[in-house]
Amino acid sequence: MTAHAAEPIHDPMTAEMSFTANTLDRQAVQRSDTAYLQDLLEGPAARIVLSTPTKLILPDNTGETIGHQLDAALAVGADRREMVFLGVEPSTAKPYFATTIDRDDDEIAAMPGLKVIDLRTLALRAELPPSDLGILAQARALIHWHRTHRFCSRCGQPSKMAEGGYRRDCGSCGGHHFPRTDPCVIMLITDGERALLGRPPRLPEGIFTTLAGFMEPGETIEDAVRRETLEESGIRVGKVTLISDQPWPFPANLMLGCLGEALSFDIDIEDDELEACRWCDRAEVRQMIDGTHPDGDIIPPSISIAHHLITGWLERRL
Ligand SMILES: [Zn+2]
Repeated sequence: MTAHAAEPIHDPMTAEMSFTANTLDRQAVQRSDTAYLQDLLEGPAARIVLSTPTKLILPDNTGETIGHQLDAALAVGADRREMVFLGVEPSTAKPYFATTIDRDDDEIAAMPGLKVIDLRTLALRAELPPSDLGILAQARALIHWHRTHRFCSRCGQPSKMAEGGYRRDCGSCGGHHFPRTDPCVIMLITDGERALLGRPPRLPEGIFTTLAGFMEPGETIEDAVRRETLEESGIRVGKVTLISDQPWPFPANLMLGCLGEALSFDIDIEDDELEACRWCDRAEVRQMIDGTHPDGDIIPPSISIAHHLITGWLERRL
């Protein structure tokens, strides 16, 4: 491991990734103070991040990038009782909340002063300040959890929001339920001079990327990298180094970016997670990045940790 890789993981390289620059003061110890949260919500500085069940609703002409005034949010159907407290932006003192509106995207998009967009597209366009994308990642993960966890997993009765949206409580059995973050390993496996890149069928045509997979309970990051790589490619992995991490709000993952050293080299993609997998030398990876690959193959866009693992390896920064 180089001295560079041993530095704090949010280094300048990873700061270029989307969703890593959330500057909100989450004020976790104040979340149980409902009067405090109510005052913040009703105050003039409050900003509400709105979404439909699938997309974000952004203000179009208020000068705000992502947040709506409370009145505007209520006017399109937001519910005061369903607001998740995200935190306070230190530089502006604006408290941010988030909630979902159960309305069609088209219906919202037709309203003056509102636009509807999905978060992935928004990140790819790179028009927003990085800190806004961090706030939206937090909002999307929490909103998704509330939408999909309305009932107690212990007794099946309805649960309700508590702790500013960081818990759901069951009034029937007293159960407390907490938001999920699902860790995934994402790894660039190399033999030193070649990188192991694969093509999951869901990706747009031509994209080759690092292997990845969900961690399982009771598993270390290193073992998850080894297991997933073996399952997907047949390659055995030795040393594993955690390089960086990235919240990935589709819907609530944490990507753990690793570098792994291959111990075997014959690829076997018997399981169907990848439709192709191959070793790519530095010259070929360079073509993929430069857009000069003879087959038109490319790597994922710079919003993703995969892009930074691949380019970091190619430029010998990892
Ligand atoms: Zn219950």
